[in-house]
Amino acid sequence: MAKTKIGKRFHGKVAIVTASTLGIGFSIAERLGLEGASVVISSRRQKNVDMAVEKLKIQGIEALGVVCHVSNAEQRKNLFDRTVQKYGKIDVVVSNAAVSPSFGSILQTQESAIDKLWEVNVKAAILLLKDAAPHLQKGSAVVLISSVSAYQSPSSWAMYGVSKTALLGLTKALAAEMAPDTRVNCVAPGLVPTRFVEYVTKDHAVREENEEKTLLKRLGTTEDMAAATAFLASDDASYITGETLVVAGGMPSRL
Ligand code: NAP
Repeated sequence: MAKTKIGKRFHGKVAIVTASTLGIGFSIAERLGLEGASVVISSRRQKNVDMAVEKLKIQGIEALGVVCHVSNAEQRKNLFDRTVQKYGKIDVVVSNAAVSPSFGSILQTQESAIDKLWEVNVKAAILLLKDAAPHLQKGSAVVLISSVSAYQSPSSWAMYGVSKTALLGLTKALAAEMAPDTRVNCVAPGLVPTRFVEYVTKDHAVREENEEKTLLKRLGTTEDMAAATAFLASDDASYITGETLVVAGGMPSRL
């Protein structure tokens, strides 16, 4: 793929990305950083946070790392406190953390898995934005990371898909609540080879089958997701709020 020319849309801005030491979250933080943002990296493990910060710093990106399990209230508070202490403000929040603890149909899903899906994928996103709201600047932007499976929940991870459907509603509702100072949008990725879906993408035949489901005949990259997120978080999208951008190579989603 051709290397994209990267601008400086986030010069002087401060961006927090959750679950950002690997995968899609890391690429989003990297993209925002390359475009001039000071980025705050976080995930559950200190070692991962340190490694990710180092990878950004060697590219000349201003980065702060804070351990934050998104379901932990104290760690969420610390994430915002440390960010404001260091940078004095917050312009962008990307809520990216999710789990997928179960396979199969909804009616077969264990109650503990339903609780975990709600806890991390939906409730933590709400609480994260509740914690962020008092710090957000006029002209700030929030991006929620959902999934194309929010539209057509696959039978193999049905309950996960439904948890991601909730984020589409949350995007609309919060866009109304947080307007006009903060825009709230959502990205719905297609299949992107990361640790999250390794069990699907490492099998050659299954991978090919999934590539065939796209119009563009390839899986997504973490950089594809980062580019779409950066667009929605940037002033290029200053008249867009309450929307979900499907980034799935033309996989079936909605009209
Ligand atoms: P990933 O590669 O597995 O990313 C995992 C990252 O999340 C790591 O940095 C991990 O670090 C962190 N993490 C995991 N649980 C966390 C928690 N409870 N709190 C904070 N950090 C946590 O996943 P991904 O594929 O990039 O997925 C990112 C988002 O994209 C998710 O919302 C996912 O639902 C969505 N998505 C992914 C795909 C796909 O095909 N990959 C498709 C559609 C949507 P630690 O281990 O240190 O916590």
